[in-house]
Amino acid sequence: MSGWTGTILYVDLGKGKSIADRYPRELAYGFIGGRGFAVKLLWDLLKPGTSPLSPENLLILAAGPLTGLPVPSSGKLVIASKSPLTGGYGDGSIGTHAAVQMRRAGYDAIVLKGRAENRSILVVDDDRVELVDAEDYWGLSTSEVERRVKEDYGGDVAVVSIGPAGENLVKYANVVSQGGRAGGRPGMGAVMGSKNLKALVFRGSSEIPVADKQALKREASEAYRRITELPNYGFWRRQGTMATVEWSQENSVLPCMNFREGVFEEAEAIGGFAMEKIKVGQRGCPYCNATCGNLVEDSTGSVSELDYENVAMLGANIALGDLEKVATLNRMADELGLDAISLGNAIGFAFEASERHLLDEKLEWGSFEDAKTLVEDIAYRRGLGALLAEGVRYASLKLGGGSKRWAMYVKGLEISGYDCHSAPGMALAYGTSPIGAHHKDAWIISWEVKTDRRSYSGEKVDKLIELQRIRGGLFEFLTLCRLPWVELGLELERYPRLLHAATGLRLGFDKLFEVADRIYCLIRAFWVREYGGWSIELDYPPDRWFEEPTRKGPCRGSTLDREGYGSMLQLYYARRGWSPQGIPRRSTMERLGLTSEAEELSRYVNIPLWDS
Ligand code: SF4
Repeated sequence: MSGWTGTILYVDLGKGKSIADRYPRELAYGFIGGRGFAVKLLWDLLKPGTSPLSPENLLILAAGPLTGLPVPSSGKLVIASKSPLTGGYGDGSIGTHAAVQMRRAGYDAIVLKGRAENRSILVVDDDRVELVDAEDYWGLSTSEVERRVKEDYGGDVAVVSIGPAGENLVKYANVVSQGGRAGGRPGMGAVMGSKNLKALVFRGSSEIPVADKQALKREASEAYRRITELPNYGFWRRQGTMATVEWSQENSVLPCMNFREGVFEEAEAIGGFAMEKIKVGQRGCPYCNATCGNLVEDSTGSVSELDYENVAMLGANIALGDLEKVATLNRMADELGLDAISLGNAIGFAFEASERHLLDEKLEWGSFEDAKTLVEDIAYRRGLGALLAEGVRYASLKLGGGSKRWAMYVKGLEISGYDCHSAPGMALAYGTSPIGAHHKDAWIISWEVKTDRRSYSGEKVDKLIELQRIRGGLFEFLTLCRLPWVELGLELERYPRLLHAATGLRLGFDKLFEVADRIYCLIRAFWVREYGGWSIELDYPPDRWFEEPTRKGPCRGSTLDREGYGSMLQLYYARRGWSPQGIPRRSTMERLGLTSEAEELSRYVNIPLWDS
């Protein structure tokens, strides 16, 4: 095969053994890579009902056929597992040189199982795979461990690691690389910690095989050049995603005070232009010429890498209007290996719980000191931090007092940075995202606010599915960054051409979207298998957005309409070929080539309902 290396590395950490195995062509053609490989491997290899933090759970790192090749934004890696936060399918995509080195070492994916006897790191150096005792790395921050590994193994190795939060099994601990690139929101860092694994270290020296080198070079250099010519390129390089703070404020979707409002009085102080005043540099992922990581000096004088989501959640959502202090919280999250989105959500939840006298602790909205203490306490599971380390769903269950109504999560994953009181399409995007409430799969909100934003139309459902097919499908199975397309407008048609040059496989959008649908269907089947059925309530956003009108800004008085949301959700199921209970129909699975998976799923659900 060209494009793909054709090999998956399986590592049993408990036994300290590994095997590199060739995989069938059908896996490559049917699932392409990245998220596609991850869900197929999890479905095939993970015993249903496995506890996410047990040795039997699998941690998968998967690349696509363009990963590590010199094409735009190809330095990405999908990290996936059964999530300890949600109990369902979890993944994240991380920009890292590890993606490049893993492919050069000859692997399209790595599957880790078991638990290392001692605290360890895994070193993959071409075909030499070694589990190394790493007691002295334990407790280090993510940037410290990366620096130490490079001192010990050479500056040319690439590293992904966990911080203390992953070691302490915080349910939204993530995996970090290069000092600020993070991925695996739904607790992939905790899964790594449960395996006694502090870091994965890669070095590869082989050439990745491609079908047509000249065509790939031509397509890639045209795409690189085109990116720099696009009108928004200069501004994007200045602000990256940070410009979204002002945009969200203007459109009343900036989450404020635990998503009770969509505007924040101090938005300007934490926006893109404020960021430019304290910007000291830029950082990005391998093979990207649209570098978007903004390096700023934080309130302690250290360097922190800012983007929109982190600032929205650790700033506006906790009512903190000082960007240097927000940057400090963000740096702490990166160093400790905590997902900044879930963290900002958990702190907002705690501030509100204190305001409502559900906690003994007296916490103040906007208090940097309170937030800073909580960040550390969560990472080390101290006091109230131990409760918040379990995630907002669990914390609200424990606290009671009606807190479920304003616990901002879907399927256990905390909501990312968009308030949806006045954005029903985006609410549906959160409701139907395949990992829980995340914006990655369908950022419909930018389109929605320009159209009939209050409507609950079929047009929105169609747009949502189109975006899921592109963002959650195409970009996640190619394992490329979507931002040059989303933010700069790089033509989508370039991606099938790049795929063809690398693999020789000529797929039109109809076939690529069929792959996307297959992956979505299998991810939903995975959830249903793990949950032993399904309830449509799991696809609903929190009650707050339906019941508590906003009180500020041009959209004040807004709530979502439960009936309207329900009708969009039913239309979504129908368009996807799922039953009114949200379960893929047997006929849909068979059409997508998932016949044996359908057979297995039928053992976990009430057949007359799901294929009636
Ligand atoms: S646009 Fe940003 S996130 Fe995407 S590859 Fe480039 S640096 Fe990474």
